[in-house]
Amino acid sequence: MRLIILGAPGSGKGTSAVVLKEKYDLAHISTGDIFRSNIKSGTPLGLEAKSYIDKGQLVPDSITIGMVEGRLAEDDCKKGYILDGFPRTIAQAEALDEMLAKKGEKIDAVISIVVDDEIIKDRVTSRRVCEKCGASYNVKYKPAKVDGVCDLCGGNVVQRADDNEETVAARLITYYENTKPLIDFYNAKGLIIEGDNNVDSESCIKSIEDGLDALGV
Ligand code: ADP
Ligand code: ZN
Repeated sequence: MRLIILGAPGSGKGTSAVVLKEKYDLAHISTGDIFRSNIKSGTPLGLEAKSYIDKGQLVPDSITIGMVEGRLAEDDCKKGYILDGFPRTIAQAEALDEMLAKKGEKIDAVISIVVDDEIIKDRVTSRRVCEKCGASYNVKYKPAKVDGVCDLCGGNVVQRADDNEETVAARLITYYENTKPLIDFYNAKGLIIEGDNNVDSESCIKSIEDGLDALGV
C-alpha cells in the first residue's frame, strides 16, 4: 500500500501517519523529520534546509524531490509506505508520479486531514515532539507522562523551532498557496479520502480506515 497524507501544519498528519504505519506495516517517510535530522547532525542538506524552515517557507523542489527519490529507493519502502509532508507542491506531485511510473507503481490513496485554522493555531503552539522517534505530544491536551521525556522511547521531548506563532502563520500561508491545490489534483484522480481531525485522533483514524475500505485499498 502506498499512501500520501496531506494537511495543514499542525493538522495532525504526523500523528495519524504513525498510527497508519503501525496498522498497515508501512515505512513512514516524513520529509520534515528527514530535514530535522539533517539539521541536527549538521549536514550540508540540513544547513540549506534550515534557512527555509525557520521562515516557514518550503525547501526548494530542487533539493526536496531528489531527497525523496533516494529515500523511496531504500529497501524498507518495498513493503509500502506513507508519505507525510510530501508532495507539498504540484511540481513535487508531478515528479512523484514520474518516479512511480518508472517503476510501474502508483499511489493507492491520498488522505486529506481536515482541521479548522483556529484549532491548528492553538494546537501547534502547545505541541511538543520527541527528538528521537518523532512522537507528538501536547502540553495542554496530551502531555508526556514525565515532563520532557518520551513515553515511547525515552528520548527528549522538545518544542520545534518553527512551532511559534509567527512561523505557524507563515506556514499556513505557504500551505494555502502551494499545498492545498494538491487536494484538487488528487481529487481529479479519485484518490482523496478525508480524515476529520477537529474532534480527536481516534475518530480521525476511523474515518480514514472507512475511506480506505471504500476505495478498496
Ligand atoms: P508541518 O506540516 O507541521 O509544517 P513538517 O515537519 O511536515 O511540518 O515540515 C516542516 C518544514 O519542513 C516545512 O515548513 C517546510 O519548510 C519543510 N518541508 C517539509 N516537507 C517539505 C516538502 N515536501 N517540500 C518543501 N519543504 C518541506
Ligand atoms: Zn520518542
